Amino acid sequence: MRSLPAASIAHLRNALHSGSKTPEEILSVHQTAWEKSAALNAFVTSLFQHGSASASQSQQQQPLQGIPFAVKDNFCIKGIPTTCASKMLQPFVPAYDATVVKRLRDAGAVLVGKTNMDEFAMGSGSVDSVVGPVKNPWNPLHIAGGSSGGSAVAVASGAAHFALGSDTGGSVRNPAGHCGIVGFKPSYGSVSRHGLIPLLNSTDVPSIFARLVEDVRTVFRVIAGCDIKDSTTFRKTLPEEKADVKRLRIGVAKEYNVPELSDDMRECWMRVADALEEQGADVRSVSLPHSEYANACYTVLNTCDVASNMARYDGIEFGYRSNTDRSSTNALYAATRHEAFNEVVRGRILAGNFFLLKRNFQNYFVRAAQVRRLIAEDFQKAFDSVDVILTPVTLTDAPSFPDFTAIDNRTQQEVQDLFTVGASLAGLPAVSVPVSWSARGLPMGMQLIAPFWRDYFLLDVAEILQHLVNFYHVEK
Ligand code: GLN
Repeated sequence: MRSLPAASIAHLRNALHSGSKTPEEILSVHQTAWEKSAALNAFVTSLFQHGSASASQSQQQQPLQGIPFAVKDNFCIKGIPTTCASKMLQPFVPAYDATVVKRLRDAGAVLVGKTNMDEFAMGSGSVDSVVGPVKNPWNPLHIAGGSSGGSAVAVASGAAHFALGSDTGGSVRNPAGHCGIVGFKPSYGSVSRHGLIPLLNSTDVPSIFARLVEDVRTVFRVIAGCDIKDSTTFRKTLPEEKADVKRLRIGVAKEYNVPELSDDMRECWMRVADALEEQGADVRSVSLPHSEYANACYTVLNTCDVASNMARYDGIEFGYRSNTDRSSTNALYAATRHEAFNEVVRGRILAGNFFLLKRNFQNYFVRAAQVRRLIAEDFQKAFDSVDVILTPVTLTDAPSFPDFTAIDNRTQQEVQDLFTVGASLAGLPAVSVPVSWSARGLPMGMQLIAPFWRDYFLLDVAEILQHLVNFYHVEK
C-alpha cells in the first residue's frame, strides 16, 4: 500500500528554529497548494490573495508559531465575513473572535482562510453551499463529505497545515474519512463553543483536522480548556494518559455491521481489528442495542434546535433583508427566509416547529431526549468491558456527486451518519483515522470512540493505529 509523506508541526517548528526554513517559505508552500487546488472550492474567503495571511515575526517560541491553519465559515472572527455558506449571512462581519480562534492565533498560528461547508452545517456532503459544492481532492467527481468538507480539503490538499471544523453529528469525522486525513471530535464541554454559530447546541463541538494524530494533539492542547464565555465547558482538566496496545481492549459493535456497509469498508474494518489483535490487543464484540434509533433521535433533537436557533435570522437584526415584501413584519420575515435559506434549512425549521407543537412535544422531543439517554447508557455499558470502540466512519468511500444528490438526498445523508451520531449524542470523544484505499482509489477511514473525558487516551490509541496502517509516514 502506498504511504504518503507528512511533515509534523514539531518538524516545521524545528526547521523554523534552526533557520533552515522561514515563516514566509512555509506560508508560500501552502499558498501554492491553495492555488493548485482552487477548483476544489474549499474556501469561502481566502486570506492568501491580499497577503493578509502574513507570517508573524514574533521571536517568542509559541507552540504553533508560523503554522498555517483554516477555519470553517461558521466560526466568528473579528473583521472577517462569516457566512455559514448561506446567503442569509453573506453581509455579516462579526465584531469578536471565537475563543478557539483567539487561542490558536495567540499560540502563533497563521490564519489562511474561512472554509466552505453545508449551509449552517446541515449536511454530510458539503454539497449544499451557496458558493457551490466542495470536491474531493482524490477525485473531484466525488464529494468531500461534510458538513466541514472545506476544512478537510484545505488540509488534504496542503493549503492549510491543520483546520477547525464543527462536529455535531459527524461533520468532521465524515469528511476526514472521505479525504484521507485525521478528524477529531473532542468530548463535549472540553472545547469552548463561544463564537461558533450553533446547530444542535448540546452536541456541537469545535473539532480538529490534520494529517497526523500528533498534530491534532498539539492543536487540541492549545484550544481545550474552560472558557468563561461558554458555561458548558468544564473546569476539570483532561487527564494525560498513554495507551499500551498489549493491554488494550477493543470493542467491535455488532449492531454496526449493517447491510448498507460496502464490502470494501467491511473488509477494511475487519482487517484493522485483526491487525490490532496481532499487536496484542484484545478485540471483542460489544453491543450498542439502541443504535438503530440514533439517526431518528438525532434528527428530532437537531431540527428542534434548528427551529429555535434559526429564528434569529429574521431580516431585521442582522444578515440578509428582503426587498420583495415589506407590507408587514411577518411578510418581511417570510420573504427574507424564503430568499436566503436553502431547502434543507427551511425543511429543518419546519420539521422542528412541528415536533415542538404542544400536541407533539411529548411524543417527539421528550421521547428523543429519553432515547438519547439510552444511547449514552449503551456506550457506558460497553465501556465496562472495553477501552475503545472501533467502527468504520461511513458506510462507503466518498460517493460521486450524482450518487449522493440523486433520488433522496436527505435520507442518504442520514444513513451516512449512522456510525458518527452515537458518539455525538453521548458527548464522547471520537476520532477518524485514515487507514486504507477503496477499490476505486478513494480513502477509507476508521473511527475510534473512547469514554467521556479520556481524549488523550483516545489520541494515543489513534496514534498506535496510525503507525500500524502507515497511511502517512512522518517526514524526517
Ligand atoms: N449530517 C448531520 C446533519 O446534517 C451532521 C452535521 C454536523 O455534524 N454538523 O445535521
